[in-house]
Amino acid sequence: MHTDSNCIFCKIVAGQIPSRKVYEDDELLAFHDIAPWAPVHVLIIPKVHIASMVDVAEAHAALLGRMMVLSARLMRELGVTNGYRHVINTGRDGMQEVPHLHLHVMGGPRPWSKG
Ligand code: 5GP
Ligand code: ZN
Repeated sequence: MHTDSNCIFCKIVAGQIPSRKVYEDDELLAFHDIAPWAPVHVLIIPKVHIASMVDVAEAHAALLGRMMVLSARLMRELGVTNGYRHVINTGRDGMQEVPHLHLHVMGGPRPWSKG
């Protein structure tokens, strides 16, 4: 699997940086964001290093679909019953800070600190 030894999320996948995991399988990892904007703020990432949506290809379609399906399951399991937001930031103008594709999923009672 393609990984990037300098990438913080690849290091989380490899267990070199700790995270509060909520889900893991062969292809995907989900963990709590270290600086949450909302009462529940989970990041869902592919284990393979894809830098951003710019690098997504047709071959990744099922993987991205699985990220979306997993998001609904995790919000249900985490007790988020009144709706949630999905965010994917892409590139500099998209305010992406970590160059490893990730889906933010945020929910819980408002007000939230951002968004
Ligand atoms: P971006 O701006 O790239 O879409 O979002 C990156 C997110 O990753 C931010 O919400 C940030 O708080 C989170 N983040 C950055 N470093 C770490 C880390 O080491 N652990 C965890 N759990 N989240 C991180
Ligand atoms: Zn990576």
